[in-house]
Amino acid sequence: MSADPGAGRLPPLREIIARHGLSASKALGQNFILDEQLLDRIAAIPGPLAGERAYEVGPGPGGLTRALLRAGAELVAVERDRRCLAALDETGAAFPGQLRVIEGDALAVDEAIEAGPAHVVANLPYNVGTALLVRWLGGEAWPPWWKSLTLMFQLEVAERIVARPGSGAYGRLAVLAQWRSLPRLAMKVHRSAFVPPPKVMSAVIHIVPKPQPEGVRSATLERLTAAAFGQRRKMLRRSLQSLPGALEALDRLGIDPSRRAETLSVEEFVTVARELSAARTG
Ligand code: SAM
Repeated sequence: MSADPGAGRLPPLREIIARHGLSASKALGQNFILDEQLLDRIAAIPGPLAGERAYEVGPGPGGLTRALLRAGAELVAVERDRRCLAALDETGAAFPGQLRVIEGDALAVDEAIEAGPAHVVANLPYNVGTALLVRWLGGEAWPPWWKSLTLMFQLEVAERIVARPGSGAYGRLAVLAQWRSLPRLAMKVHRSAFVPPPKVMSAVIHIVPKPQPEGVRSATLERLTAAAFGQRRKMLRRSLQSLPGALEALDRLGIDPSRRAETLSVEEFVTVARELSAARTG
């Protein structure tokens, strides 16, 4: 039970959904979570949020939103579906001064200005989830505007984020998520926890930034991993031949060009990217 007076004033989420006619839209990736205990557990993953800034993408009817507000966060939330705005107003009124809602597409928001520095917590719409993650993990500015990312993905995507070399799930997403961040799979979530239930299982990933290795440009690493995993079954001498300086870098570093991308550790990718960055070819 929450000590916050706002919690008691809000009607159950099912009532909010019915009253505001929020039938789930597949096109907007809408699968709502209505179990408030589960939502509180997700909101607890980043650690204590009292007085902390938080940023949510896709609040929908506001289940995770109210859990974050109950935890004491100062929250900025971006929602594309206009139908949800009245419901979110109601949620905000129960937690005066804690919630600001931006209507629009999260891909068009400059979060560093609107929300940073903040803990990002979101049950992401499937159609834009990976694009947002790649954007948040990328860029040359580091540490980033976000303090941590707590994000719901399809289980299969979550497994790609934390994958280790040699596994089928290891690829570009694993390297981008691990070279200067620490991702962990925080919680698996059964499909029956969502309304409507999606076809697949989900999982919450928690990511914190770590110091960036010196001498490596993010753009170089992104080009390197795109080339290497673009043809993941091929040997590096083949997959990297179109990337200027890459084969020479492998040679200088003593990395066997007959290896495949999925056998290279994150550290080895970083070393190759550093060599390319130094040679100004990457
Ligand atoms: N947070 C709610 C929950 O946990 O029950 C809803 C999560 S639902 C999976 C995804 C939400 O993202 C929906 O409310 C949908 O309208 C919203 N959405 C979809 N695309 C969006 C976009 N490009 N920008 C912002 N919100 C978006």
